Amino acid sequence: MNTETVLLLETVNFAAEKHRNQRRKDPEKTPYINHPIGVARILSHEAGITDVVVLQAALLHDTLEDTDTKTHELETEFGQVVTRVVQEVTDDKSLSKQERKRLQVEHAPHCSHQAKLVKLADKLYNLRDLNRCTPDGWDAERVQQYFVWASDVVKGLKGTNSALEKKLEELFRQRGVQL
Ligand code: NDP
Ligand code: ZN
Repeated sequence: MNTETVLLLETVNFAAEKHRNQRRKDPEKTPYINHPIGVARILSHEAGITDVVVLQAALLHDTLEDTDTKTHELETEFGQVVTRVVQEVTDDKSLSKQERKRLQVEHAPHCSHQAKLVKLADKLYNLRDLNRCTPDGWDAERVQQYFVWASDVVKGLKGTNSALEKKLEELFRQRGVQL
């Protein structure tokens, strides 16, 4: 097996251990790890990305934000380059939700190319998830507001990957949201 394949297995295993007890917000309570794996898979399968750093960052993208994972742990396991990309896509949880959402819109254009790819794939996965089924406790208006906010983030990521942007554009178009 080549080194990159081994590295990806190490990374997916690390993410699976960290998200072990978490579930998504859909009514079926899908295991959380389906999401980072799906985001990495969008990048490899739909966007043609072969940069292992991007695929690793996709697999790890919610570990700092949503689990007990520390930055130094990622650095030790996967190095500074991957860790930096994960940090770029991590919200500051000490801020209010509204402020975190605003900062995502503000920061998107200034992210590295690698972080922009992860952000595009993350949004695409979540919007498809919302089209598939509505999370418990959400009404149609909240789903629509999520699409509107996501479109504001994606606006700042334009020119990163045309395949992903086309797919996102179509999802926004179906919702009547202008990109
Ligand atoms: P949340 O941030 O609470 O939830 C969306 C996030 O949950 C996603 O970004 C995703 O993050 C994660 N997630 C987990 N499971 C799913 C799933 N099945 N489908 C999609 N995402 C999932 O949403 P918001 O608070 O932003 O709500 C949407 C809009 O509704 C907002 O713009 C807000 O203004 C409005 N609103 C919010 C209310 C609130 O209580 N917060 C109440 C009423 C309206 P990840 O990629 O990290 O997994
Ligand atoms: Zn995510």
